[in-house]
Amino acid sequence: MDFRESGSRLSRTPKMAEAGSFADRVKQQADIVRVIGEYVRLKKSGQNFTGLCPFHGEKTPSFAVHPVKQIFHCFGCGKGGDVFTFVMEMEKCPFPEAVRVVAEKCGIAVPTPKERTPEERKENQQRAALIEMHREAQSFFVKQLEMTAEGRAARAYLEDRGLDAEAIARFGIGYAPAGGDVLLRFFKGKYAEKLLGESGLISRDQSGRLFDRFRRRITFPIANESGKIVAFGCRALGDDQPKYLNSPETPIYSKSNVLYHMDRAKEGIRRSDFAILVEGYMDAIAVARAGISNVVASCGTSLAEPQIKLLGRFTKRVIVNYDPDAAGQAATERSISLLLENDFEVKVLALPAIGDQKADPDLYIREKGAEAYIKALRESPPYVDYLIGRARQMDLTSGEGKLRAVNFLLPYVQKIPNRILRSEWATRISQQLRVDEPVLRAALTKAAAERRSEVKTRPELVGKPAKPIERRLIRMLVEAEGFRQELAKRLQESALYHGLETEKIFGALVVAGLSGQALQATEIGASLPERERRMFFEILFEEAHEGTWEEAESCLEALREKQVERELAQVQREIESNPTGEAMRGLLARKQELLKKRAAG
Ligand SMILES: [Zn+2]
Repeated sequence: MDFRESGSRLSRTPKMAEAGSFADRVKQQADIVRVIGEYVRLKKSGQNFTGLCPFHGEKTPSFAVHPVKQIFHCFGCGKGGDVFTFVMEMEKCPFPEAVRVVAEKCGIAVPTPKERTPEERKENQQRAALIEMHREAQSFFVKQLEMTAEGRAARAYLEDRGLDAEAIARFGIGYAPAGGDVLLRFFKGKYAEKLLGESGLISRDQSGRLFDRFRRRITFPIANESGKIVAFGCRALGDDQPKYLNSPETPIYSKSNVLYHMDRAKEGIRRSDFAILVEGYMDAIAVARAGISNVVASCGTSLAEPQIKLLGRFTKRVIVNYDPDAAGQAATERSISLLLENDFEVKVLALPAIGDQKADPDLYIREKGAEAYIKALRESPPYVDYLIGRARQMDLTSGEGKLRAVNFLLPYVQKIPNRILRSEWATRISQQLRVDEPVLRAALTKAAAERRSEVKTRPELVGKPAKPIERRLIRMLVEAEGFRQELAKRLQESALYHGLETEKIFGALVVAGLSGQALQATEIGASLPERERRMFFEILFEEAHEGTWEEAESCLEALREKQVERELAQVQREIESNPTGEAMRGLLARKQELLKKRAAG
C-alpha cells in the first residue's frame, strides 16, 4: 500500500479506528496475538511472537507480532499494521468487513450499521432468512428419520453402514422423504416462493412449480466454519441416481469455500498441527468417530483454492487420504500440486485394498478398526514417495516410458521451493526409476528455473537503518507517556530532526506528541510513506529498555552536536568553493558561530 499520496502527515484515512467508534472498541478488546494466531502459527520469542509470514513464501520466520503495541510487522516483505490491517490483507476484504470479522472472533456483538445501502440490507436479510431456513430444514430432516416409517428404513441402512444412534445424533444425520413436496409444505406460508427457490432446498420444474430437491435421501448437514448449517449433502437410499446430491451454490453456500467438518475439526487441527483430508462426508464421519477429530472432507474430488486457504489458517501440514480409485488418484495428484503451491507439507495415505475391494477410509475403518487406520496414518509417506510409486507403475522398460515417468514427476519438482529438497528428489527419482542422474538433473534445473519466483524484498524500500540515537528518541516518543509531549516540544523548537533519514517519522511523532492525546502506533505508521513505515515498525519491534527524561535529553544533545557537525561540514564545503567577498565573509562568521556552539556543547 502506498501512503505517499496522503495530504497532511496525520491525515486520517478511512482505515483508522476513530476514537470512541465501534472499530476502536473492537481494537481495544481484541488480542492481536490471538486473532493472528488463527491464521499463523506463532511462537513466543522475547517480548514478541514470531511465525512464518502469511503474505510471502518463507522458510524461516520473519513475521513478528507485538502483544503490547498490538501491531504486526514482517521483516521480509515489509507488510505490517494493526489487527484490522492484518485481517484486511488476509481476507482481502474492506475495512468495515475486517472490523466485523475481528469483532466476531472476539465475541463482541456487532451493532447493525445504520448506513447500509438498501441492497446490502436486503442481502443481509436474505442471508439470515436462508440460514434460518436451513436450521429448520435440519430439524425437519432429523424428525423424519426418527419418527416416520420411511425414516425407519433409512435408519436400517445407516446401521448397516455402522452408524448407530450416537453417531446419527452427533453428526446431525437426517432423512429427506420421498413425497416430493413434504419439506415444501413444511415451509409454505413461512417463506416467500422466491426465497424458497433461492435456498437450494426447493427446486423448480420447467413449468415453474416448486418441489423438494432432496427426496428419499440420507441428509448430512454441511456447516460453515462458524458452525452454521449452510447446505446439505445427500446420499441416495436405494440405487437412485445420482448417488450423491448436494446443495447447489446459493447466497450462503459456495462449495469451494467450505470444508465439511471444519467447524468441529479446527481446534484439533490447530492442536495437532496437521489435518487429514478425505473425499466425502462418510469418510470424515468414520475418521472422526475413530477418535481423530482433525479431519475434513473436500466434499467432492476437486479441492479448491479457497478451501486450501481456509485450511492454511489452522495448519500447513496435510495427510491426503482420498479414495484409491482412478478419480481419487487424479484428485490426490491435483491436491498435492495445489497444496505445494500454498507451501503445505504433504503426506499421502493410500490405503491397501481389503480383499479385492479398494478401501476408502470409511470401509477401511469398518473392516480393520480404528487402531489399524491410525497406524496407517502414522506411516503415511511424504508425497514424494507416493508420486514416485505412481511413476513406477508406468512402463519403464523403454526410454520413452522413462521419459513419460519423468515428465509426470517434473511439475511437482517445479513446485518445491527448496533447492536441497529438489536435489534429494533428483537422487531418489534417478535411483527408483533407473534414470541417468545427470540427464535428470539437467531437466530438473530447467524445471526449477521456470518455477514462479518467490516474493523478493523490494530493495528500493530498504533504506539505511536509522542511527541508534534516532531509534531511541523514536521509541521514547512512542512509549514515554510521562514526557512525550515535552520531548515533542523540544524537537519541534530545535528542528533537530530536520534533514535526518528519519525526518518523516519524527515529523509525524512530533505532531502526535504535541497533541497530548494517546498515541496509536498503527495510525502513525499508516500516515507514513512505505519506506518510513517499515523503518518505524522495525524500530518498534526492537528489544529496548524504558527511556528516561535524562536519556532523552542526552539524545537531544547528541542530535544537536550532530546537527552542528553537519552544518560545519556544509559551511566548510562552501568556503572551499571560494565564493566572492561578501558571501565569504558571511560563511566565515557562520563558521565561527558554529565552532563556538560546538565548544559550548
Ligand atoms: Zn512477509
